[in-house]
Amino acid sequence: MFTMKKASSSKSDEPAAKKPKVEGGPIKVDDFVDKFKAIRQETAKSVLDFDFKKKRIRILSDAKEVEEGKAGVVYWMSRDARVQDNWAFLFAQKLAMKNELPLHVCFSLVPKFLEATIRHFKFMLKGLEEVAKECESLNIQFHMLTGMAKDTVPKFVKAHKMGAVVCDFSPLRVPAQWVEDVRKALPAEVPLCQVDAHNVVPVWVTSEKLEYAARTIRTKVNNNLNTYLTQFPPVVKHPHKSKLKAEPIDWPKLLDTLQVDRTVDEVEWAVPGYTGGVATLQGFVEKRLRKFNAKRNDPTDDALSNLSPWFHFGQISVQRAILAVKKYGKGFSEGVASFCEEAIVRRELSDNFCYYNKNYDNLKGAYDWARKTLDDHRKDKRTHVYTRDQLEQAKTHDDLWNSAQLQMVKEGKMHGFLRMYWAKKILEWTKSPEEALETAIYLNDRYQLDGRDPNGYVGCMWSIAGIHDQGWREREVFGKIRYMNYEGCKRKFDVAAFVARYGGKVYKSK
Ligand SMILES: Cc1cc2nc3c(=O)[nH]c(=O)nc-3n(C[C@H](O)[C@H](O)[C@H](O)COP(=O)(O)OP(=O)(O)OC[C@H]3O[C@@H](n4cnc5c(N)ncnc54)[C@H](O)[C@@H]3O)c2cc1C
Repeated sequence: MFTMKKASSSKSDEPAAKKPKVEGGPIKVDDFVDKFKAIRQETAKSVLDFDFKKKRIRILSDAKEVEEGKAGVVYWMSRDARVQDNWAFLFAQKLAMKNELPLHVCFSLVPKFLEATIRHFKFMLKGLEEVAKECESLNIQFHMLTGMAKDTVPKFVKAHKMGAVVCDFSPLRVPAQWVEDVRKALPAEVPLCQVDAHNVVPVWVTSEKLEYAARTIRTKVNNNLNTYLTQFPPVVKHPHKSKLKAEPIDWPKLLDTLQVDRTVDEVEWAVPGYTGGVATLQGFVEKRLRKFNAKRNDPTDDALSNLSPWFHFGQISVQRAILAVKKYGKGFSEGVASFCEEAIVRRELSDNFCYYNKNYDNLKGAYDWARKTLDDHRKDKRTHVYTRDQLEQAKTHDDLWNSAQLQMVKEGKMHGFLRMYWAKKILEWTKSPEEALETAIYLNDRYQLDGRDPNGYVGCMWSIAGIHDQGWREREVFGKIRYMNYEGCKRKFDVAAFVARYGGKVYKSK
């Protein structure tokens, strides 16, 4: 059922695909890359012939029009680091074509970002290397700027007389501040347009307020899918050549300039970039989707999509993944429905939470009932208390917890089911809920390839502070926050097999 014929090679302006080896077996990656290319070309000749949904865009500046006599349009790329299947890139191309201007892409590289290590920067930069090559083949100049966007982007715009800036969207406070700073520093006549290229339904369309739980957002998202879950037109060879040529990029040297921890290095299984992401998507559709519904809570099975690193870095579009899973997964309707629930409803709920709740990563952002119950149990005696160091080194009395921690450290991705158990045990074994949340976020952001993401903050807040959840039977330390334990895990999957795979030991607490 999943044997896919190779798409007939089409005359395209998109570059040929690389063939990365991933996930321990030959995957016919060309199939999906070529198929997606063919689908885009069938959808429209270019974005000019496509009904672009205007509500994906917000104009953040007072200036609304591109002035005469300008030298180009800039897409300031940040969260969505891919060329194809990217609404922000497509809108920038549309604006440039309508105004008959060259198109430039700028990425502003900061030397450090939250708890990110060299693991994350290598993944991001290797993906960007692929973006830069594809831009070159499409007559679009890709500029790697180094420093804070508030300095680099306005400077670039002024120096080269750019007529408009298009940026993508993140609900998190640091990138949101970058956008605000750029907005203030741009010349008054230059419009700044923001496009939500990460969510299927733009976050500001789904809801105007903080949603309480999946059940309150589900219908709002799903009712918009007819409008927004569309095919993508292609980003095409840009018809207007630029006199301004991008500086060549010395990629290895860029890595040397970073001020990040280099002890947490890249992982082997995840090949960064668009083609690596598409290969993982194809592997999921061909091999794992069939068991996604039944086995996704079993960490000893290989049933998940594994796509979160590519989603997080915007190297592959979630919308593309949904379209592919729906198209090719017809025989596995339960798996398709579960995947859509996770990748659309749950994921977009996370963006909603971080967008409308400024305290998305601290206890002030929890509901009153959760704050109260955690407070009521603040002084409860903990059976074990561990320091951040002991947790980081996987030295607890619990071999399952230690194995999950080791999986994250070694592979840069902990299984989704265990993430809940892992974070809840941090609540149980640290001195206060504040310390638990800080520790969980610190470890999550430092080791998970998909860390520093709205899903991560919501995942930690759900586990420790009951966000999007309800009150449960009251118990020590947790109060009414949902509890999980080792015995429950044993009922769900083969704990011993998981422990044997990752080698977590039992350490006696002093
Ligand atoms: C404590 C904790 C920390 C987490 N940290 C992160 C994180 O840093 N980054 C991150 O992307 N996710 C995080 N999650 C959510 C979820 O565990 C991961 O998205 C998922 O395990 C990623 O693996 P996958 O792509 O194989 O997922 P799949 O199960 O294949 O799901 C497909 C996609 O759906 C989305 N998704 C799945 N589960 C959830 C969920 N519970 N909430 C929101 N979206 C979801 C993700 O985008 C995921 O890539 C965390 C959850 C918890 C409980």
